[in-house]
Parts: sequence; C-alpha cells; structure tokens
Amino acid sequence: MLGRAEGRYDVVVVGGGPAGMGAALGARDSGAERVLILDREPEIGGILLQCIHSGFGLHYFREELTGPEYAERFLAKAIDQDIDLLTDSYVSGVTVDSSGRKAVRVMNEQRGILTLETRSVVLAMGCRERTRGAIRIPGTRPSGVLTAGFAQKLVNMMGYLPGKRIAILGSGDIGLIMARRLILEGCEVVGVFEIMPHSNGLTRNVVQCLDDFGVPLHLSTTVVNIDGRDRVERITVAPVGEDMAPIMERAWDVDCDTLLISIGLIPENELSRKLGIQLDEVNTGGPWVSSTMETSMPGMFACGNVVHVHDVADFVTREALLAGQFAGEWAQGIRRPIDNINLVPGDNLRYCVPHSLSPGREHTVYMRCREPMAKCKLRVGDLREKKLRYVFPAEMISLKIRPDLLDRFHGDTLRVDLVPRG
Ligand SMILES: Cc1cc2nc3c(=O)[nH]c(=O)nc-3n(C[C@H](O)[C@H](O)[C@H](O)COP(=O)(O)OP(=O)(O)OC[C@H]3O[C@@H](n4cnc5c(N)ncnc54)[C@H](O)[C@@H]3O)c2cc1C
Repeated sequence: MLGRAEGRYDVVVVGGGPAGMGAALGARDSGAERVLILDREPEIGGILLQCIHSGFGLHYFREELTGPEYAERFLAKAIDQDIDLLTDSYVSGVTVDSSGRKAVRVMNEQRGILTLETRSVVLAMGCRERTRGAIRIPGTRPSGVLTAGFAQKLVNMMGYLPGKRIAILGSGDIGLIMARRLILEGCEVVGVFEIMPHSNGLTRNVVQCLDDFGVPLHLSTTVVNIDGRDRVERITVAPVGEDMAPIMERAWDVDCDTLLISIGLIPENELSRKLGIQLDEVNTGGPWVSSTMETSMPGMFACGNVVHVHDVADFVTREALLAGQFAGEWAQGIRRPIDNINLVPGDNLRYCVPHSLSPGREHTVYMRCREPMAKCKLRVGDLREKKLRYVFPAEMISLKIRPDLLDRFHGDTLRVDLVPRG
C-alpha cells in the first residue's frame, strides 16, 4: 500500500489511472498545494498496469510505450510534485456542506474509515466491462465464460491462462488484444464474432492482433448459445440480419473451452449517482460536463473513461490535465464564467464532450460517430467545417475550436453534424 493522507486538501482525485494522475498534476500546475489521489487497488496506474502491450504515448510523448511504462512516467511526476497517494482505499461517498466544502469517505483496510476534507473533487473512476448478463446469452452456466479485461488481468498480472481453445464475442480493443496475447501464450483462438457489420476496435488492433495471426473475424455474427456442464464445451454462433436478429437456420457450432466477452465498457457511475450528479445516460453514459470538465455539482469535476470511453490513454491525459487545472483553480477561489452554449450531437454523431462551451477560450471537443463514413465533413453550426477522410465508431474524433470562433455565435445551442462531402 502507498499511504499518505492527512489533514485538509485542496483537491482530492478519486481513481489513480491516467485520468486521476493527469488531474492531480493539472491541479498542482494551477497552484493547488495539497492534492491527493485515492485508488481502491494496491497500486496507482489503473487499467494501464494490465496493458503490457505497446501502443501508449504515441500522441503525448511521440514514443511507443507499454501501459505500465506510460503509468510510470506520470507516477514519477506525481511523486516529484509532492502529490499524496493512498491506495487500497475505496471511496464510498462524498458529502457537500452548505458552504460547498466536501468530505470524501474512504474505506482502507489498515486505517479503517477515513473522512477527508477537500475544496474540490475530481472523479476519475474509469469504466467497467459489460458482462454475459448484459446481453442475456442463452445456454448453460459453465465455467470458462469471462470478460476479456478480466482474462487480461489473469494472464498479465496473476500468471494464469483462462483456457486453451478460445472464442471471443465482440471486437472491442480488449478482445482483439487478448486474441494476440493468448496466441503468444500458446492458446488457440478459434475466432472473433462481432454482431456489427464493422469491427469495434481500432484498425491497428484488427491488423496487428487478428490479421497478423490468422484469426478469423466474423462480422454480423453473434453467439446464440453456450453449452457445457462444468466447463464450456461449445458455443453456437449465427449470422444476424439487418434487424440484428440471428438467422438460426444458418447457425453453426464452434468447439471451445473458453468464451471471452468484449462487448463494451460502461462508465463507473455509482459515486456520481449517489451524489445526484446529472448523467448523460443516452449518449456517453457518464456525467454531464461543462467546458471546464465540471459536473452539474459545483466544485465536482470529472475526466477520463468515467466521462466517456476513450480510445487511447493520451487523450485521457490531455482531458485530465484540463480537469485538474480547473479543479485546482476552484480550490483557490477562482471562478470561470458559466458556459452559455450547449453543444449537441447531430447527424451521425453519438456524442460530443464537453457538453457545453463558452466564448473567449480554446476548446477541444471529442466526438464519436455512429456509422463509418468516408469523405465526410464535420459541420459546427454555420461557424466552421472540417474535412475528414474517414471516420469509424472505434476512433474518437477531436476538433479544436478557436477562442474567437464562438464570439460570432449568438444562439444558445450549437449543433455538430457529420455529413458527406458534396
Ligand atoms: C485492454 C485495453 C487495452 C488498451 N490499449 C490501449 C492502447 O494500446 N493505447 C492506448 O492509448 N490506450 C489503450 N487503452 C485505453 C486506456 O487504457 C484507457 O483509456 C485508460 O486507462 C482510461 O483511464 P482512466 O484513468 O479513465 O481509467 P482507469 O485506467 O480504469 O482508472 C480508474 C481507476 O479508478 C479506480 N477506482 C474506481 N472506482 C473507485 C472508487 N470508488 N474508489 C477508489 N478508486 C476507484 C480504479 O481502481 C482504477 O485504478 C486500453 C484499454 C484497455 C482496457
């Protein structure tokens, strides 16, 4: 356990992944003196610690690092900046008094229940995986059905193999990366089955993890049954029609002893819900955030996968530095003007983050499209257009909005559309 937490804080950060570390560093940069990171795991680093593959840091450091190497760089900076760190510490709640001061309630195995006072809080709890229960796959309930992220933890951190003959449902990045990882460990990967007509992972992962190892990717196909008494013996898969319903006459059996499920991530919302923070249930699944990454509750900020599921950690870091900067300012009594422009996703966009903007400051807006599209453009109201060669649901789109651009806008709702180029 890393352990130092005492007295009153300016900023307390919940979660020690790349979002939490970035936010803590941003807060220190803003001049906040007492900053603390809390994490329920025994080490700081979040999901990065189990991602021993390379592919991190390409945008931020212009270097290719593994997850633990990427985490290590920020942890070293946090220690250097005198940021307090407390691990093995589960945050069960935050209360806010009438003057806006916050108390963070923490459960720590060795120190019991602690209550830590702070001026502002950054929520950086990441996200969790959807399970078999989320999509109700019929069949028996044998062992050998597990999420791809848990399999990654078993293999990379605990030294266990989940099985020998593996099928994977869902082509999200975790499933793709685990296909390659398990082949390198001597397993056979019989196929990846994806209900959508396109992969849900980054193109580089499809190429490097499936194509390079000859693993078949079955698009528009899903698992319709799991069979086995004690252990998985086979699964049944079927193609789906345009209505996403399985075509059972064309179903076939696949022999395997393990089914990994990689069907998406959901922001960790328990704490935000308890606090009564407004959530964007329809689009991102995480808290609503302003352009300062502040939630609907004053002095309570959020960043990283708890806000929206990011494709790469580098963008998490950028967003988190900003959230930390504003949380640090808040703690020092600096108040930014309240945003007066709501940003809404229009044609072929699933979401835009942040959810609101204000003139006079540069903004970076992150978006995801619903359907792949080639030769298209982003249209930001009638203020600006940006040409894009190709967009894909697995890859986030980012757009910089210059400070002066919003000065020309007089409405209160700015719509962003992704449309074909004429
Ligand atoms: C398998 C996989 C492969 C990936 N590959 C790449 C890649 O190649 N390149 C790349 O750039 N990105 C990759 N990513 C994405 C990147 O790892 C994530 O975007 C990033 O880790 C998200 O950061 P985060 O800090 O928001 O969340 P996390 O890293 O999940 O950290 C959240 C932390 O919050 C803690 N926490 C949650 N709730 C509480 C609570 N109540 N109390 C205390 N602590 C709490 C958790 O223990 C955790 O440590 C990959 C992700 C996965 C899962």
